[in-house]
Amino acid sequence: MAEAAPLFDTFSRAPLRFERGEGVWLITETGERYLDFAAGVAVNSLGHAHPHLVEAIKAQAEKVWHLSNLYEIPGQEKLAKRLTDATFADKAFFTNSGAEALECAIKTARRYHYSKGHPEKFRIVTFEGAFHGRTLATIAAGGQAKYLEGFGPKVEGFDQVPFGDLEALKAVITSETAALLIEPVQGEGGIRIVPPEFMRTLRDLCDEHGLLLILDEVQTGVGRTGKLFGYEWTGVTPDIMAVAKGIGGGFPLGACLATADAASGMTAGTHGTTYGGNPLAMAVGNAVLDVVLADGFLDHVRDITLIFRQGLASLQDRFPDVIEEIRGEGLLLGIKPKMPSAELLQAMRAEHVLGVPAGDNVIRLLPPLVVTAEEAREGLRRIENAAIALSASQQAKSA
Ligand code: PLP
Repeated sequence: MAEAAPLFDTFSRAPLRFERGEGVWLITETGERYLDFAAGVAVNSLGHAHPHLVEAIKAQAEKVWHLSNLYEIPGQEKLAKRLTDATFADKAFFTNSGAEALECAIKTARRYHYSKGHPEKFRIVTFEGAFHGRTLATIAAGGQAKYLEGFGPKVEGFDQVPFGDLEALKAVITSETAALLIEPVQGEGGIRIVPPEFMRTLRDLCDEHGLLLILDEVQTGVGRTGKLFGYEWTGVTPDIMAVAKGIGGGFPLGACLATADAASGMTAGTHGTTYGGNPLAMAVGNAVLDVVLADGFLDHVRDITLIFRQGLASLQDRFPDVIEEIRGEGLLLGIKPKMPSAELLQAMRAEHVLGVPAGDNVIRLLPPLVVTAEEAREGLRRIENAAIALSASQQAKSA
């Protein structure tokens, strides 16, 4: 009998083995170079082997890697201060992942109402197409049948309404509702942007019903949309926000940010983590912010966004048989092809440019935020070649 592969079969992996990375490039064991517009799914915000991050992690590694949260960790205080100074938030809790940041956000919202004398308010409204992680609570929040199937009863307390459906949302709010939870742009859902006016309506509904507004900025945060956080495009501030991915630039790091009031139920002993906020993670998180908060960095992201938007719009004009729609905000871009998205991904991979599949038959382009104009144009040229190949095979099919 053949020996079973030693890894869980949960991922269907591309047959690519990358040995190292340099900026926006990934290099395979055999020396082939790929333009990385996947960036670890919006994680490698500063590309690969960024010298400032390499320096920060090396310097910290020589001092102390891990300390329990039983002690004060100055790097945490520094990162929390910088994140709260730059956002709506007053407080931060550090985690190792996006799902854990969401778990903290969900617990924070429930404890808020509990501590105000309303333990019955624990339900959270979410939106179809959402993705909030793979823990039991976050698959319940995301509500996608394919992720819930076979894992026993769905965690209680999540009500889902169609994306953008205000009437359904109003109808589902009851005296048990604690919060609304939404991504400013649905990433895995297919790059679907929440219109600013809808976000304002959500804020108004929260204020009217005494609910908390929780934003999942795990994918949209830390410069991805051209602002430090996606909510800044909307004129609305949340009460609680989950952050991860880009904040660690590749090191496992997340954060739950909240106003002092929203976090008021999270008293000593109510929540915890072994690794969250350890000195190595904090050194990297602070180094990421050194770069992202530097003058001109977000201007750079917005400038590059224009190059991508113009280039992709022109490809859509020239290849209407291949590209149905271009979507996105900042460097969270989506191409919806006319054919199954796997075919576009494959054609791009043949041109040595990486993207990420999403829902709604969309391919996400999530280049590192440090991508230069020249690299953006190189990527567009490669996507153009992929479109030429797909267009030719479309024509061959219809001939
Ligand atoms: N929320 C959003 C919007 C995400 O995109 C993701 C990951 O893709 C998560 C939450 C979960 O993050 P993690 O995989 O780090 O647990």
